[in-house]
Amino acid sequence: MKPCAFDYEHIDELSRACAELQGGNARLVAGAQSLGPMLNLRLARPAALLDISRLPELRGFAESDDGLLVGAAVTHAEIEDGLLPDVTRGVLPRVARGIAYRAVRNRGTIGGSLAHADPAADWVSCLSALGGEVVLVGVDGGRRMRVRDFVVGAFHTALRAGELVAAVRVPRLAPGSRFGYFKACRKTGELAHAIGAVFVDSEGGTERVVMGATGGRPVVLEGEGAMAGTGWEEALETSAPGLDELDRRLHLETLRRACELSETL
Ligand SMILES: Cc1cc2nc3c(=O)[nH]c(=O)nc-3n(C[C@H](O)[C@H](O)[C@H](O)COP(=O)(O)OP(=O)(O)OC[C@H]3O[C@@H](n4cnc5c(N)ncnc54)[C@H](O)[C@@H]3O)c2cc1C
Repeated sequence: MKPCAFDYEHIDELSRACAELQGGNARLVAGAQSLGPMLNLRLARPAALLDISRLPELRGFAESDDGLLVGAAVTHAEIEDGLLPDVTRGVLPRVARGIAYRAVRNRGTIGGSLAHADPAADWVSCLSALGGEVVLVGVDGGRRMRVRDFVVGAFHTALRAGELVAAVRVPRLAPGSRFGYFKACRKTGELAHAIGAVFVDSEGGTERVVMGATGGRPVVLEGEGAMAGTGWEEALETSAPGLDELDRRLHLETLRRACELSETL
């Protein structure tokens, strides 16, 4: 199928994007890697597309003592290629490299991926494990939220009318912290059937594991002993009820692999 007719505009001011979003049936487009297929299938029928991919405020980054602010329109490929300071001791480029294939990574953006909120998206699981945040800007001002709270369900976020993802805040990871990540995919370039992510910073007192691609929001367990496995089944049952036995086992095994493969950063 082909998309319904729509107007198309490159937006050059963040405030105008917010105003247009609140007003009518307009939709943002960044890399179009997820929205494109939805338009073609007529699952989305916006009257207008507002292209934010060249908006300077969304294309930059800023490093600080405690982390990195990544503009929402920074692409997966730019992260993969190390064009941003790496405050994560290799974690961000590594996860970026595992997203789809290069053509998708050249266009797809970190903000678009989080806003789309596909449960199987890599940034959703990875940033939930690292304790990343989204910076949201809207007609009424700005706010920050943890990624794990921002994604409230499958393809469903806490974004309000007239609000967009302006940036993603990635915490600086301490030397000696551990990270593990494992995706269960049938073939490279596919969205995962299950994702396991683990982050441990013993000095800072953080131990966090994530089961992603469960069909809803990421399942996050936090606190001492989170890696041990006690509580994983219960958390999955509570947060992702209705999974069949095979899927349940796949998620548990995928997280177990992520823990086994975790490495000191
Ligand atoms: C073949 C294929 C394989 C893929 N495999 C993977 C994979 O393995 N792992 C993975 O994580 N992803 C995968 N993806 C998805 C890819 O990473 C997309 O880039 C990403 O999901 C969306 O980013 P985008 O910039 O293209 O967003 P778009 O498609 O432009 O937009 C997606 C949605 O987000 C909204 N939006 C965009 N930017 C913002 C913003 N700043 N604020 C608020 N709303 C916004 C749009 O209105 C739209 O609703 C795959 C995609 C394809 C086509």
